[in-house]
Amino acid sequence: MLDTLLKTKDFLALTLANPQSFPEPFGFDIGEHTRVDVWDTGVILFQPLQQVANKDVVLSCGVHGNETAPIELCNGLIRDLLEDKIRVGERTLFLIGNPAAINNGTRIVDENMNRLFSGEHSRGPGLVNPERIRARKLETYVDRFFRAREGAQRIHYDLHTAIRGSKHEKFAIYPYRPGRAYSAEQIMFLKAAGVDTVLFHHEPTTTFSYFSSENYGADAFTIELGKVYPMGQNDMTRFIATREMLSRLICDRDLELESYSPDKVNLYQVCRVINKQAEDFEFTFASDVENFTSFPKGFVLAREGGKDIRVELDSEAVVFPNAKVPVGQRTVIMLTAAQAPDVR
Ligand SMILES: [Zn+2]
Repeated sequence: MLDTLLKTKDFLALTLANPQSFPEPFGFDIGEHTRVDVWDTGVILFQPLQQVANKDVVLSCGVHGNETAPIELCNGLIRDLLEDKIRVGERTLFLIGNPAAINNGTRIVDENMNRLFSGEHSRGPGLVNPERIRARKLETYVDRFFRAREGAQRIHYDLHTAIRGSKHEKFAIYPYRPGRAYSAEQIMFLKAAGVDTVLFHHEPTTTFSYFSSENYGADAFTIELGKVYPMGQNDMTRFIATREMLSRLICDRDLELESYSPDKVNLYQVCRVINKQAEDFEFTFASDVENFTSFPKGFVLAREGGKDIRVELDSEAVVFPNAKVPVGQRTVIMLTAAQAPDVR
């Protein structure tokens, strides 16, 4: 394993060749400046050997297997680190979430992994499928990483791409964080990274970013970087700003962030989530509607069980509409313009 990685510098290839697990952890140094520890398939930690800065950064990708751009982006950063083209200044943990689904070229193998965190993997039927087993492992790796030291700023960017087009190409979901102000610096970092739109979530969820936010006080986000394309078919020029800012972050270079002002970004509040109650749930709008398309009050959004589901506020926008989910799960997130969120 070690020899292959040192020769190819391709951690993604090594991960996909061993999608379930690695036989054992291994580690090595790059020069006298960086310690590398591989904990498992898709799990690689870079730590400066001297002068560790004050941020502990988790970059995760491939929680959904067909969302390839973030996987290529992370593997590119890992390759640059292994080739000593860039050097970490911060402790940085990369996670390639769902190698089995990446090999399949599908979003999931059995179950949506981004509904399985905060212990959800072990509820109901328990650890019955690869996503549940992997979600539990990923939680333990994040726990080990963040608990290794106290006092650092904890950051977790969980990188995705969306199934459909979007009026805002790149956007982030800010997990519900009662009692904690939203971070102006984080919002401006996202903007510099090309992510100019932020959704404030309104309730606890079982996503990976909420797990890190809630349990470790991390500045954590689910970040959507554009539309899904097959591996190798992404136009990586669309990710230059994102890659540059992630690289500056983990290398402890100057971020050169603008000062925060709400008019520099698009801020939305999640007003409700519509869960599927019946098998015959269907949307009234076209299946290719873009994320952030808005509808007026009274508009019939969907029908199920003979009932209409209508827009309740003056105007609501849709994000992630998907009628083909199991009963009980989310079909769509509804948004309104954010009313003066507590950003500091
Ligand atoms: Zn995703």
